[in-house]
Amino acid sequence: MKRTLIIGLSLAISAVLSLGFTPPQAEAKTTFVTIGTGGITGVYYPTGGAISKIVNKKRKEYGIRCTVESTGGSVFNVNAVMAGDLEFGVVQSDRQYQAVNGSKDSEWDGRPQTDLRSVFSIHPESITLCASVDSGIKSIQDLNGKNVNIGNPGSGQRQNSIDALTAVGLDLTKDLNAEGIKAAEAPGLLQDERIDAFFYTVGHPSGAIKEATAGKVKVRIVPITGIDALLDKYPYYAKAVVPIEFYPGAVNKEDVTTFGVKATFVTSAKVSDDVVYAVTKEVFDNFEDFKKLHPAYKVLTKKNMLEGLSAKIHPGAMRYYKEAGLK
Ligand code: GLU
Repeated sequence: MKRTLIIGLSLAISAVLSLGFTPPQAEAKTTFVTIGTGGITGVYYPTGGAISKIVNKKRKEYGIRCTVESTGGSVFNVNAVMAGDLEFGVVQSDRQYQAVNGSKDSEWDGRPQTDLRSVFSIHPESITLCASVDSGIKSIQDLNGKNVNIGNPGSGQRQNSIDALTAVGLDLTKDLNAEGIKAAEAPGLLQDERIDAFFYTVGHPSGAIKEATAGKVKVRIVPITGIDALLDKYPYYAKAVVPIEFYPGAVNKEDVTTFGVKATFVTSAKVSDDVVYAVTKEVFDNFEDFKKLHPAYKVLTKKNMLEGLSAKIHPGAMRYYKEAGLK
């Protein structure tokens, strides 16, 4: 009798245990995704941070853990995404175009990156030329004979600098001393008077341009004009300005004329539809919150975030755009 009772009881206890206290199912596997950005004083780095922040809020739902990596910029990001070292990258629209088309004279000359996929575009970026006032540089033509940082290999701006210089008839190898330093280091070098000027293709406001214009050495943001043929030649370049309101330390008093591109968000065809869908959905469903994360996003609309993309849209992103009636 006692024995039956004990057996009965233990059966009951195990039944309760198995019903009510089922050990939690093994946690859904966490998928780690890394976003390649740029130097920490650019806008790509906080952009990666903004996207991660929004996606990581839903970590329980998607099992995605997003992290950000500071990198050498657009070209590095395309190559790292293609190699599978990064899942996403922020990339200039001109670089996206060149990579997907294997454009002549680009890093991907004759090697189209057929697996490159676009997700959305982000803020506008302008080719920003900063020069010390003492260097006497007031136009891009004045770079003749000067020490100029055109950007590190791996950066987006390097080709933009070369295109602009070539457009005004300056030869990179003969007419100036071109440095290949990372954008994050250029403001310090300008303030130390070790370079006369630097190019940076960046959204505004950017920490790097603030740093360059807020020091002891007076700095001018130099207009880039006389490049109409360049703008006509390439579909990805357009006229743009550097809004001077963000840089009260610069000697300029008005917005500076230049040309520009767009920052875009890319991935690889090999990244799963579910991951790309989740990232896209979180950014777009939380669009107003996302926009507040950086002043450079002020001009964003859901519609213009689908413009300026030359690689095919990733099917995961497309699933969201269809659902949301954006495509
Ligand atoms: N446009 C730059 C590049 O592609 C990066 C700008 C930024 O980090 O905001 O290298």
